Amino acid sequence: MRVILTSGKIIRISFPKILFQALRMDQYQIFVILAPISLLVSIGTGLYAWRFRHKPLGRSLALMMIPVCGYLITNTLELVDPTESGTLFWGKAGYLFAPSLAVLWLAFALDYTGRQAWLAPRRLWMLFIVPTLTLSLVLTNEWHHLIWTSTRFIPRSGFLYLSVSYGPWFWVNTIYSYALLLLGTFLVVREYILYFKSYRSQSIWVLIGMVIPLAAHAVYVYRLFPAWQKDYSPIGFAFTGLALTIGIFRYQLISLAPIARSLVMDYIQDGLCVLDHQERVIDANPAFLAITSQTIADLVGRPAAEALPFWNELNVPQNTPLWQSTLDLKQEGEIFSYEVRVIEIARSRKTALGRLLALHDYTERKRLMAVVEQLAITDPLTGLYNRRYFSQRAQEELERSARLRHPLSLLMLDLDHFKRVNDTHGHSTGDQVLAHFAGILQTMTRGTDITARFGGEEFIVLLPETGPQEACATAERIRHAVETTPCPCGQLNIPITTSIGLATAPAGQRPSLENLSQQADLALYAAKHSGRNRVAAFSEGGEAPRN
Ligand code: GH3
Ligand code: MG
Ligand code: MG
Repeated sequence: MRVILTSGKIIRISFPKILFQALRMDQYQIFVILAPISLLVSIGTGLYAWRFRHKPLGRSLALMMIPVCGYLITNTLELVDPTESGTLFWGKAGYLFAPSLAVLWLAFALDYTGRQAWLAPRRLWMLFIVPTLTLSLVLTNEWHHLIWTSTRFIPRSGFLYLSVSYGPWFWVNTIYSYALLLLGTFLVVREYILYFKSYRSQSIWVLIGMVIPLAAHAVYVYRLFPAWQKDYSPIGFAFTGLALTIGIFRYQLISLAPIARSLVMDYIQDGLCVLDHQERVIDANPAFLAITSQTIADLVGRPAAEALPFWNELNVPQNTPLWQSTLDLKQEGEIFSYEVRVIEIARSRKTALGRLLALHDYTERKRLMAVVEQLAITDPLTGLYNRRYFSQRAQEELERSARLRHPLSLLMLDLDHFKRVNDTHGHSTGDQVLAHFAGILQTMTRGTDITARFGGEEFIVLLPETGPQEACATAERIRHAVETTPCPCGQLNIPITTSIGLATAPAGQRPSLENLSQQADLALYAAKHSGRNRVAAFSEGGEAPRN
């Protein structure tokens, strides 16, 4: 650092020099003292994290401490080994650890931010390609000088210091390592800034843990303080491990939210699938995989339109914060119904990061709803429509017929002397007779007719598109079928008859349902009075029996 005094004199101040002089030790001596301490800390950290190996985070942190320890050991031995060949050997051995440290740091960050799906072994091996190449080139450096163009051994404070000039591949490796380290840091830090406002204070551990080794390494490689020559980054990484362990396992806080989130993903029964902004699948939970009968490898990295057979069918519009629909999917020969939600994952209103596709199975609810709906409109004893539903349907039919100028007829049916059946055979036999009668009604009417139990032993049939003659013929057929089909009840065959009143709304007229029912009722009354077991049609002048 240069300070310009008011007198115009320029003096140079080197902070490391001041620091070392204050301690009466130099950077090499301090390193040799700090390194074994850092090693012990790293081993302790690794072992402590290993206790949590059943959690993915514990495992990846413990694994990360292996290259940290290796880096520390080789770096220290490089300094303390008194021979040139030994110093060179340890200098090279360091490359076994430092580049893979960057890979494992990224793996830790992915794990930490709930991106375990990216940690497929194949991808991890690919990340190790550059470190492996680097190590091979280091070992064969004498032939090509791609790592070090020159090496010098300088005695410093009783140690042999390896001073090198870097070759092109060194920079490739450095850029690669930095990219991984920075990406990892970015992922972890972004996690907090984006999602967990309340955890920001804890993230300071992660931040410090990351920045210190990076800063130490930058000071060393770029000679930021010319007097500072020793690479302190291994000690920095030891500190990283400690800081992360404190942050994660001691406070438990910073790890809780991402773990909870990934647990939610794993255990929620809804199928969840994450798509990036280019609609490629980047993650899916076990429930989603079960729904689509696919594996994570089938999906990740592929466009949704290609990987998810139903994606195109859904036709999800772009730029909608929340889109909902339903979807039927066939699984093992059965149809399952899903409520579909597509939720935009956005950093702000402008930048959409991707989408969350959520599938909620409502097959059972749909089935129950259908049962409830059916129950609400049917008469439980006979299975025919109930009076309420009949009124609703009949109303619609009356309006439709009037609009189309079609005739429409209504039959009112009542079992003759039904009380006697109850009195003679009991109420439950009476019930069987009612169900038997309803069965005849159903077989004798068309699909377009609306047949209902009006109440007690009275029934009603609406015959759309039917004029008086046709209606009368139908009524007569029903009457005849009832008369000739006694109800089988155990050993007995109980004979029954019915009286039928008939009213017609001629084409073009629009009587109310109430009016038409009243007319049919009057006709029924006439049928009863003229001897039962007969059909009577309503006419303005009086109801003449037709049988
Ligand atoms: P009519 O020929 O004049 O119609 O004589 P009826 O005996 O059929 O007429 P009434 O109105 O006197 O009797 C109807 C009987 O139907 C009385 C009632 O107990 C019986 N009933 C009504 N609903 C049910 C039911 O759900 N189950 C049984 N078993 N009987 C019923
Ligand atoms: Mg009756
Ligand atoms: Mg009656």
